[in-house]
Amino acid sequence: MITLCSDPNCNLKANHKGAHSFIYKKAWTDLFNDDDINKIQKAGYCTPRGGAKGGYQNHVNRNSKVIIPYEKLPEVNLENYRDGYVIRIFPSQYFSSKHVVRDEFRNNNSIIVGENAFVLYRTYEDFETLPPLPDWSIRSILKFDETRQEYCIPSDNRSGNIIDCGHYLLRISNSGTNKKQNRFEGPAQGIFAPEYADANTNFLCQSVLAWLIIKTEDSPYNESDFEHLQAILAKHGLLNSPHYENDFIIHNGKTTCPLCQRVIKHSELNELISFEDEEGLENSTEQVGSTRSTKINLFHMVPLCYASLENIPTQVSWGHATCNTRLGQRQCFSYFDLQNIDIEVEIRESKKRRILGYTNAAKNFIRSENGDVWIRISKGDE
Ligand SMILES: [Zn+2]
Ligand SMILES: [Zn+2]
Repeated sequence: MITLCSDPNCNLKANHKGAHSFIYKKAWTDLFNDDDINKIQKAGYCTPRGGAKGGYQNHVNRNSKVIIPYEKLPEVNLENYRDGYVIRIFPSQYFSSKHVVRDEFRNNNSIIVGENAFVLYRTYEDFETLPPLPDWSIRSILKFDETRQEYCIPSDNRSGNIIDCGHYLLRISNSGTNKKQNRFEGPAQGIFAPEYADANTNFLCQSVLAWLIIKTEDSPYNESDFEHLQAILAKHGLLNSPHYENDFIIHNGKTTCPLCQRVIKHSELNELISFEDEEGLENSTEQVGSTRSTKINLFHMVPLCYASLENIPTQVSWGHATCNTRLGQRQCFSYFDLQNIDIEVEIRESKKRRILGYTNAAKNFIRSENGDVWIRISKGDE
C-alpha cells in the first residue's frame, strides 16, 4: 500500500509537492467511468427536499450555508454548521400584529433579522396583514469586488466570496382564490440543514461510496488498482471497519442494501426506474419532485435530522430506492444491532413457540435471522 503524507489533515501521497490537501477525488475519478463519477458527485449534493418554496438551494454541495427554521433552534447545535447558517422566521412568528415585533425579538442580540435571520413570506395574507417593516428590503447577495475591496457586486448565486443583505424573502404562490401573481423575490438562502456535512466529512463519505461501488457485484474495477483510495480509507479507520459487515453495508465482501440485504450489482447503480412501475415509491415522488430515480440511491443508516449531523462516513451506503422509501425516517437496524438490544420476538406455530427474530427498543423494527424485515408503518410508531 502507498504511504500518505504524515499530516493528519492531508490525504496526498507522502513527499507530495505543493500545499497539503484533505480532499483528493482523483483517488477514484482517475479510474471511474463518467456515470460512477457522477453518482458519487451527486451523493455529495443536497437532495431537492424542502424545495424552492422554502428558499432552499438544491444541487449544491453539502458544505454550504444552511437554513435553520426558527422553531428548530432549541434542538440544533449551531456550531455544527461551519459554512454558516441563517435563521428562517415566519411573519406570524416575528410579528404580533402589523409592524409590532414580538417581545422575544426585541433587544435580542442572537437573532437579528437582516444579519443572521430573514422573514419568509409564503402567502398574500401574511404579506398584507403582517407586512415587512418600512425600512426593510428584500434579501440579496453581494459579491466581493477585488479592486474596490468591498462587497458591492449584485449576484444571483451564492458561489464565491459573498455576503447576504436584506431582511425578507417572498415565496408567495397564487392560492387560486385570488387573481394575483406568484411573487418569488430574493435568492435561495441556503440548504436543508439536516443534509449538511463539512467539506472533509463530505469527501470521506464520497470515498466510502466510491469504495462500495468498487465492491459491487460485477464491478468493472479491481480493488488492487485503488491503492490511494484504500490508503485514505485506512488513514481514517474506514477500510476494514467492522461496521460494514455488521450493518450489512457489505456482506461477504460484496456491497449490499442494508435494509433487504440483497447484493447490489454494478449495473443497477445507474439503472433508471419509473416511480409508477415501482410499488412503494408513490410517496417519494412528492418528496423529490421527480417521477424517475436510479434503482440504487444513497442510503443513510440513521435518518437525517436537525439535532445532530448524520451524513457521516460510517452511516452512508448504497441501497435500493424502494428500500429507502419503505424505511422512511427510521433508523435501519441490522440483525447484529438488534441482537445486541436483545428483545426477542416469538411466534406461536400450533402449540410451539419459535423465535421469529429481534426488535429494537421502540418495537417498530423486527428482523429475523434470515434477513426478513418487519417495519411498523402505523401512525403510532414515531
Ligand atoms: Zn500533505
Ligand atoms: Zn434493498
